Amino acid sequence: MTPQISLLYWYTQHGRHDLPWRTTNDPYHIYLSEIMLQQTQVKTVLERFYFPFLERFPTLADVATSELDDVLKKWEGLGYYTRARNLHNAARQCNGVLPDNAHDLIQLSGIGRSTAHAIAAFAYREALPILDANVKRILHRYFALSERNDKKLWDYAYKLFDPSHPYEYNQAMMDVGSLICLPKKPLCEQCPFEQWCEGKVKPLSYPEAKKKTLKPIRKRSIIVHQRNKKYALKQRNEKFLHRLWGFYETEAVTYGEYIGHITQHYSHFTLEADVYITRETFENELFEWFDVEEIAQLSLSRADHKVIELL
Ligand code: SF4
Repeated sequence: MTPQISLLYWYTQHGRHDLPWRTTNDPYHIYLSEIMLQQTQVKTVLERFYFPFLERFPTLADVATSELDDVLKKWEGLGYYTRARNLHNAARQCNGVLPDNAHDLIQLSGIGRSTAHAIAAFAYREALPILDANVKRILHRYFALSERNDKKLWDYAYKLFDPSHPYEYNQAMMDVGSLICLPKKPLCEQCPFEQWCEGKVKPLSYPEAKKKTLKPIRKRSIIVHQRNKKYALKQRNEKFLHRLWGFYETEAVTYGEYIGHITQHYSHFTLEADVYITRETFENELFEWFDVEEIAQLSLSRADHKVIELL
């Protein structure tokens, strides 16, 4: 028995074979799942986003020929909108037809090495390992590596890799990472690598714990300007939440009637905002006026959705 055979055997018995992106060879479906799963849990992607997105954009060519705003609208609620912008950009770069190898896939917007390997291994059976967060954790523990160094980790990824079964090996690694080699309580006695894993005695030491840094709090006021039955929103131009629509946000000035408070956690800061509504004259060429039905057609950030709930 080798670790690779043990892993394959485990995957045959315990792997999640019924996930929709595992029952297809369509590279677009696989690509979409890889992108959605980068920052979001399987359950959320499966229950709320994967199928509605494919229903709206059945092919990558449909993404390429659509407006970015339509793609963002369908991505709404999934967060990390750079993924949607990259997806739209990549679809246009390849004219809606994905390349059939990792070397060319990696040239597309937002497709990193591990994602390119995943698409190539799952759709085309190219013999390449992946290196997502789950696989990194397994490798750190398996080889008892305390240092965090992605460059070196790729060497270890190839060391453990089974090139004769790229599809099964990579899927199995993802499953062991999410079901067995858990971040806080790894289930070593159920692990197919138990016999070979160098770090199983003290798995939590590998890799070394990250120093915790507190997320900064950004205090803001959000002013909802109302005119008749319409509200003023602008489409963001800045990099953060780029092209999503939002209400007027300011650092200090507050006016209007207080209607509530919202908190929104982002990856690099927490937004704490008091929300006000006013019917005062508001002239700002960056803003456009929309009624409730029209706002429902726009792509908004989660924070702006929370503001709407207050209205
Ligand atoms: S034996 Fe334990 S620490 Fe090692 S890979 Fe398996 S679950 Fe992770």
